[in-house]
Amino acid sequence: MNQTVKIINQAKKEGRKALLENEAKTICIEYGISVTKFTLAKNEKEASEYAEQIGYPIVLKIVSPDIIHKSDAGGVILNLKTPNEVNIAYKKIIENAKKYKSDAKIVGVLVQEMAPQSTEVIVGAIKDPQFGQTVMFGLGGIFVELLKDVNFRIAPINAEDAKEMITQLKAFPLLNGYRNTPPADIDALAEILCSVSRLIMENPEIKELDLNPVMAYPKGAKTVDARIILE
Ligand code: ADP
Ligand code: MG
Repeated sequence: MNQTVKIINQAKKEGRKALLENEAKTICIEYGISVTKFTLAKNEKEASEYAEQIGYPIVLKIVSPDIIHKSDAGGVILNLKTPNEVNIAYKKIIENAKKYKSDAKIVGVLVQEMAPQSTEVIVGAIKDPQFGQTVMFGLGGIFVELLKDVNFRIAPINAEDAKEMITQLKAFPLLNGYRNTPPADIDALAEILCSVSRLIMENPEIKELDLNPVMAYPKGAKTVDARIILE
């Protein structure tokens, strides 16, 4: 059995609808979507060991089935540069999680590679009651939240559909080289959209998927956060 089916079945068995970030990212890897390197740590000592293996700078994130929006809970700490900083941040994240929700079940802390800053995009999927599985693309931050500048397509999509979804955004000029920002790798982004399309078609129990954000680079793209919700 493949990893994706195993992870989905395990979550179902435990009565969880939201997959954990490490689970969602493992599924992404199986579908060829590039994600930040990660390891789940259960204590400070493991966290600094894994940080050493992955390489600094490091990001730590809370892993809890009771915390979906990690930043809201003070559950994301970026740009850690030494074992000591990792140690302190680990304690802080656990403390913040308990403050946010005193009975939150804490699975551990995800130690991950810090991806270089870049233009952030969002790749999503949602099961529409009328149209079925759809994929979504937009630029991060205000472009999605305020301006609703996003494009949807009914899955499955091909590379050409994917490129249209990207190039037909109002904010596309921002991806295509703007002032000091070099153009983003549109082929790499289109490939992620096609992989997501395949992922949701092959796993119809996925109700929602969010790669938010994906860092778009001049060469390639990297998913730094992944969320999958089951039906
Ligand atoms: P949330 O559950 O709040 O959406 P995220 O994992 O998306 O948490 O983290 C919040 C923000 O932190 C992201 O939008 C991104 O800007 C930044 N971030 C998170 N993980 C990384 C990483 N590995 N490398 C670089 N930036 C990151
Ligand atoms: Mg996020």
